[in-house]
Amino acid sequence: MNDLNELYEWGCVSGEMPLRVESIPEGQTQQPSRRLFLLYHELRPGESRYSYAIESGMFERHLDFFVRLHEAQNCEIWPELTFDDGHSSDVEIAAPLLQSRELTARFFITAGWTGKKPGYMGWAELRSLHEAGFTIGAHGWSHKLLTHCSDAELQTELGRSRLTLEDKLGASVTTMSLPGGRYNRRVLAACADSGYTQVYTSVPRAESLPLGATVGRLNILGSMQPEWIAKLFQPDGRILRRLGRRYRMKEAAKALLGDRLYARIWALVSRKEPGTDGGGKGAE
Ligand SMILES: [Zn+2]
Repeated sequence: MNDLNELYEWGCVSGEMPLRVESIPEGQTQQPSRRLFLLYHELRPGESRYSYAIESGMFERHLDFFVRLHEAQNCEIWPELTFDDGHSSDVEIAAPLLQSRELTARFFITAGWTGKKPGYMGWAELRSLHEAGFTIGAHGWSHKLLTHCSDAELQTELGRSRLTLEDKLGASVTTMSLPGGRYNRRVLAACADSGYTQVYTSVPRAESLPLGATVGRLNILGSMQPEWIAKLFQPDGRILRRLGRRYRMKEAAKALLGDRLYARIWALVSRKEPGTDGGGKGAE
């Protein structure tokens, strides 16, 4: 009961919702029908000033919370983990930590960076991730914002990336995560034309099953403590609604300022590191 009490203290279970774990027959899982997809980027062994990088010890605390959530089986929203960009830490840090807890994840890969860009996985590493049972999706060819792409560029970012991943992995790739979360109707139509059946966005919302053609996700920052993460899974969805409002304001700012100026301001507030992988075009 200690774990459950801890979940209760963290706010996973509301005061109105009594714990009913005893009533669930042994061996029977009771998965909720709503999913909250979480978006991670790079993991680092030590603390980082780059907001999207998460210290591995903090990540482990997130995972330990998810394991308790799975065991408790009394939350209305289920966590799903995703990683964008294809950073080397996916295979070096994230995968072993996930496997040791029997958790799975989806990894979205920037295909043109694979085996080329320092700090990102090579094809052998990506194949080992796939062979270990993790799901691989695409994240563009060169991480261009798709809303800025010409038709020919969309073909490269969407078509070439999918075909290359499929060729190198020997498996079908049907999911795409949008670089920078940017999309519009034209981008979604191009994704469908290129063979993707599901597009993962950065819109923070819980998804009902069965999943639709677009899947919202919550960007996870290095400063997010597990106690805060736990509140996301409260049945009332208050925190998610607040994040949804903040997301819409951010989108309005992007529309007002334009992507270029917004990116410069975001680089200041997110403490990107100039000249590093965390500071270049790889954000989001
Ligand atoms: Zn990205």
